[in-house]
Parts: sequence; C-alpha cells; structure tokens
Amino acid sequence: MLVDAYKRPIRDLRISVTDRCNFRCTYCMPLDEYEWIDKKEILTFEEITRLARLFVQFGVEKIRLTGGEPLVRQDLAVLVKKLSALGGLEDLCLTTNGALLAEKIESLSQAGLRRVNISIDTLDAKKFKRMTKRGDLNKVLEGIFAAKKAGLAPIKLNAVIERGVNDDDILPLVEFSREHGFAMRFIEYMDVGNSNNWTSAKLVSKKEIIEKIAERYPLKEVGRDRGSAPSVDYEFVDGRGDIGVIASVTEPFCSSCTRRLSLAYFPRSDMTSSPVCAAALPTKRFRNSSAIPGAAERIAIRRNGSRRSKRRTTTPRAIKKSK
Ligand code: SF4
Repeated sequence: MLVDAYKRPIRDLRISVTDRCNFRCTYCMPLDEYEWIDKKEILTFEEITRLARLFVQFGVEKIRLTGGEPLVRQDLAVLVKKLSALGGLEDLCLTTNGALLAEKIESLSQAGLRRVNISIDTLDAKKFKRMTKRGDLNKVLEGIFAAKKAGLAPIKLNAVIERGVNDDDILPLVEFSREHGFAMRFIEYMDVGNSNNWTSAKLVSKKEIIEKIAERYPLKEVGRDRGSAPSVDYEFVDGRGDIGVIASVTEPFCSSCTRRLSLAYFPRSDMTSSPVCAAALPTKRFRNSSAIPGAAERIAIRRNGSRRSKRRTTTPRAIKKSK
C-alpha cells in the first residue's frame, strides 16, 4: 500500500485532466480569464494510463477524473476506456459541471464510465447563470437526465452553499434529488485563495444544513463511506434516499483522507517548495519506480486544492489575459 509522508494510505487518485473550464463559478474561478497551463505540460492519455496502472499496482482502488472541467478535454472517452480496462481498479468516476454531459454520455458510458458526480448549486436558471457566469441550467439538467437514462448509478449532485446566495436552494435541491433518485451532496463554501472574497459570514455550516433538512425530512447519520470519504452521509428516515455534507471548513477531515493525490500537469518542483505538498508526496519506493522516463518530473502530486488555490488567487499573472 502506498502511503504519504504522514503514513496515510493512498487509495484514491484524482486525475485532473485539464485546468480549463467552460464555467466561471464565482466561488472557484471568479475571473474572466486565466493563464492556462501550456498544453505541452499536460500528460497525454497514454502517460496518464501508464501512471494510473502503476498507482493501482501500489494499492489505489478508485480513480476520479476531474478538472477544471474534465469534459472540455477532447476525446475524454478514450481515456475512460483505457482506465476502465485497468485490472484491479474497483471504481472509476467523473466529476463534471454537466454542461457537455448530454452530448458525451453515450461515448463515456460505452467506454466504461459507470458513475458520475455533477455540480448543480441551484434550480433557479437566473441564479445559476449568476453563480456560474457562463452556465445554462437547462444544459446541466439535460446532462443529469442523460446520465440517468444511460444507466449510470449512483448519480451524485454537488452543491456549494453560500449564505445569501443559494442557502434558500437547500430544500428545493433535496426535493429534486429525492424525486428523481439522485444523491445530493452539499459542500461548505470555502476559501480558494481569497479571489472569491471568502468570509466566514458566507459560510453555511454542516450543522445548519443538516438542521434545515432534518426539520422537514428526518435524517439518520450513517457516517463516512469507508470511514475516509470527505462527505458525512445521512439517510432519510422514510427510506427515500440519502444526502451528504462535505464540511471542509467546520469539520476538516485531512487526517482520515485517502484521496490526497492528484496526478496532473504541473512541474514537480512547484510542489516540493511547499511543505504541505511535499508531505503529500508518495514514498521513495514509488518515486523510484520507472513509470515513464521523465514523467515523474511532470506529475504533480498534491494536496486537494493546494495548487488550485494558488491558481485562483488574483495575481497579476492570473489577470493578465483578462485585460
Ligand atoms: S466549480 Fe467546477 S464548474 Fe465551476 S468554475 Fe470551478 S471547475 Fe468550473
């Protein structure tokens, strides 16, 4: 089993296939434009697959494809097909904003994708546009129902809750997910490097979210999946599904997390300059293995969000292209 410098087992691998996104969610990418990673820096599907195979050999059981928005990377189904064929991999899933899902679901499902997480912060089309700047709620709903029609399960819906923005959407989202058989996951609004003007006043805590839902639909806590998932899950007492809350701010779960790796596209030297990132590097045994000549230099193995926070900060570099 692969462990990090804090001896935490590494069972889950997040693969960021691109840093680009077709949305500009106010809490994540608030600027109009960013200086994107040079495509030459991004691992090819072949390189990702070879590295993923090695991670699986070292004990990784689950791979999640993320971005940015992973579906903006061309021919993602080709990668899904390669990864779903890896012996020993128990779970392959995709986190997406859903905008391109309806048009790509057929190829993805044929390639072996079996489950998906889709972000949807509100069911109000105007608010959705305000929150994502470029998003069209109808397209996302089309994507969600296309995934259901294609037989993907479970379908998890993610919503970041920000006080005064979409805290009044908690119950409508719960009702939507109960009606259609989706699993709703609420995420506490968190700082991503100050560019989203985070303040604790905007935070709606897990406690508050759960109380609001339980008042209408009684809940029973079931805990974290495998004891290490970021979400604390609850079942509805009436048996109509479940919800979860990811309390990154009020109940940080770093010590039990098993998904601290991201295999991405940044020079490794960037990561080792930070003690937090360096702590997340895997053991020497893995680093010394010959996955791909030179590829080790191109892998970023990072703590969740560490690089993203840097990227999302309003630096002169980040705003250069927005002018
Ligand atoms: S939250 Fe997701 S969809 Fe929104 S800008 Fe960030 S990566 Fe894109």
